[in-house]
Amino acid sequence: MNIHEYQARELLIKFGVPVPAAIVVTNPMDAAKAFDKLVTRQHGGGMAVVKAQVHAGGRGKGGGVRMVRSSDEARKAATEILTRPLVTPQTPPEGVPVTKLMVAAGVEIAKEYYLAIAVDRKNSAPIIVASAEGGMDIEQVAREKPEAIIREPISPIAGLAPYQARKIAYRLGFKGQQVRMAGKIMHQLSDLFLKCDCSLAEINPLIVTKPTDEHPDGVVMAVDAKINFDENALIRQEDIRSLEDPTEVNADEAHASRFGLSYIKLDGSIGCLVNGAGLAMATMDIIKLHGGEPANFLDVGGSASEEAVTEAFRIILQDPKVNGVLVNIFGGIAKCDTIARAIVVAAKEVGFTVPLVVRLEGTNVEEARKILEEAKAEIPTMQIGGDLTEAAKMITAATAA
Ligand code: GDP
Ligand code: MN
Repeated sequence: MNIHEYQARELLIKFGVPVPAAIVVTNPMDAAKAFDKLVTRQHGGGMAVVKAQVHAGGRGKGGGVRMVRSSDEARKAATEILTRPLVTPQTPPEGVPVTKLMVAAGVEIAKEYYLAIAVDRKNSAPIIVASAEGGMDIEQVAREKPEAIIREPISPIAGLAPYQARKIAYRLGFKGQQVRMAGKIMHQLSDLFLKCDCSLAEINPLIVTKPTDEHPDGVVMAVDAKINFDENALIRQEDIRSLEDPTEVNADEAHASRFGLSYIKLDGSIGCLVNGAGLAMATMDIIKLHGGEPANFLDVGGSASEEAVTEAFRIILQDPKVNGVLVNIFGGIAKCDTIARAIVVAAKEVGFTVPLVVRLEGTNVEEARKILEEAKAEIPTMQIGGDLTEAAKMITAATAA
């Protein structure tokens, strides 16, 4: 589960990480007011940042992060961001609507760093990933300069050790007071990561402000954060769960997850209903091999009920792009006859107006074939495929017509 930057900022504050002052607004007039509140003559060089609050990253590149130097500029920037969809390298090409902005006090940045904690599957532990090449494009750094990225596993039981924080801080090139400030932030972030069951806690950029008389080494703080949570842990994270923004969640994907289905919408036209993620991937590959384009990834799981499978058909057939459906089931724990009955129910409740190719193999396949044979009259668009290649050819031929 993902949350907005302004929510991530609140969590950082809760764990003690320094961040610039900020106010969330939904209209240009309030953005102007927020500027006046945040920008005082003495601090911040008379500058604020107006930031689109959407789940996609790379906002800076798409005009979703604007530096402003007056309340009037804040109002104008807010108007521009709110009135058109935001397109970044991480959004669909048509962009995403923006309804919320965060106006943050501008800081004078001396240098940008990258600091994140992610899950390292190889070590079965959280891992700190840090780089002095911070700022917008860490993916590019990882590709072109992998040696500039520091990795340090964290004990999931003991948390980050003080020597690890110091080591990372020195390797990042922090000097003087910065070492203590950066180390403290690493501990706070590690604490947040472990206590909130995060799957990712990323600060990009972590920054050092320009030196002042009060802070000759500058101040280390977080200017942007992205935090994701392990959905399997939400059951014990009520506060976190309540942060979910339903407008950022694909309605069909949410509907599917309520029925224990893993569904991901894609751009093609052939709906797929498969059990097992590996088989679902193989099925999508074989559809492509025969010239088709899958409309979705859908894994009904091992123990799919008739009800869940019926919902799966409902979700697939709701997609107006779908002009054919391929069912590929290898009955193991999931039984072929359950799927066959669900197909008959779905035909009655949802109706198959598009071609349907069914390929079943495994547990209770004989009974399943009988159910489908008997239902043929009710489902005129249905064909039964023998093996997967034959089934894929059938569905691509039926939808190409
Ligand atoms: P993202 O593009 O979605 O990752 O949004 P960020 O919040 O990370 O902003 C993008 C970039 O804008 C940062 O890497 C900074 O270079 C710059 N930026 C953001 N806030 C400030 C600020 O207060 N002062 C300055 N000087 N630059 C900022
Ligand atoms: Mn960023």
